[in-house]
Order: sequence, then C-alpha cells, then structure tokens
Amino acid sequence: MDLNALIRDVPDFPKPGVLFKDITPLLADPKAFGYVVARMAAHYAKASLGAIAAAEARGFLFAAPLALELNLPLVPLRKPGKLPYKTHSFRYDLEYGSAELHMHIDGVAAGARVLLVDDVLATGGTMAAAGKLIEQAGGTVAGCAFLIELGFLGGRAHLPGYEVFSLLTY
Ligand code: 5GP
Repeated sequence: MDLNALIRDVPDFPKPGVLFKDITPLLADPKAFGYVVARMAAHYAKASLGAIAAAEARGFLFAAPLALELNLPLVPLRKPGKLPYKTHSFRYDLEYGSAELHMHIDGVAAGARVLLVDDVLATGGTMAAAGKLIEQAGGTVAGCAFLIELGFLGGRAHLPGYEVFSLLTY
C-alpha cells in the first residue's frame, strides 16, 4: 500500500523553514489507517508487552487502536495540568524552553514492558522523555513505534538501547 501518497507536505508549519508531515489524509482513509495499525500490531504481536503508552496528541491516534488490537492497557502521557490523578513527571529541553510529560502513578506496573507509540519521530526529544517517564515508574521500554521517521533529523540517536520501528522514513 502506498502510504506516501497519504502524507501531505506542508511548508512553513508550524514556523518558517519547517516542512511539516501532515498525516490527516492517511487518517481519512480507513483502509490505510487500518493497514498502519495492522503492521504495527504484527511487528509487536510476540513482544510480550504489558502496556502501550503515547504522548498527546497525535500519538493517541495510533496507540488507541493498537492497544485494542493487541488487547493491552493504554496509558496516556500528557502535558502538565491535564491528568486528574497523582502523576509522575519528566521535564525535558526543547529548542526554545522546556516541556514536561506526566503519567498517572498507577499507569504502568513495576517491571511492565511498555511499547511507546507516536506518529512522527523528529529529533527524538519527545520519545526520549516518554521513555524516561516509563523507567521512572519502574517499567521498561520494549520498543518505540512510529508511522514516520524523519531520518535526516537523527532522532534515533536520542533513543539508545530502544528498539525503533517506523513504517516510513524520509
Ligand atoms: P521530536 O520530539 O521527535 O522532535 O518531535 C516529535 C513530536 O512532534 C511528535 O509528537 C510529533 O507528533 C510532532 N512532530 C514533529 N514534527 C512533525 C511533523 O512533521 N509532522 C507531524 N505530524 N508531527 C510532527
């Protein structure tokens, strides 16, 4: 299936000089969306996972159907002030300033093997922070799954020791 045709390049979003990969045409195509989830599910079918975690917001779009497909708990990782119960948090640096990811303290059981999911791997900062959060809670990162990897940004270098799976690489 030609997934490339369903990824739209949007120049200068969210700021000048950035070529944004817009995944909404793929989401609008149920056959293609289902194919992506099925490919991810097949890759991790025998991975002995305990949970699937994803950072808001686009990561949720793939993590939720994948969690149902693999019959696994779904754990949302969110920005500050969004989760209602007690949280673990991890702060990380961005190009300008910093950001923080939170997870409920009962989100991941100690020793659980957690698959992290996102739509795009760019610099790797978001996924590295998600991994730290899982580890802080006593879980281990069993893999990182992406629809798209922007290989030229070298994000994998920020995920050392993690298995990385991506369906499309640019
Ligand atoms: P990173 O932390 O790896 O630099 O950025 C990855 C995060 O930013 C992901 O959560 C992803 O949703 C978002 N992101 C960065 N660049 C793009 C892009 O070109 N397209 C989309 N859809 N998301 C992006």
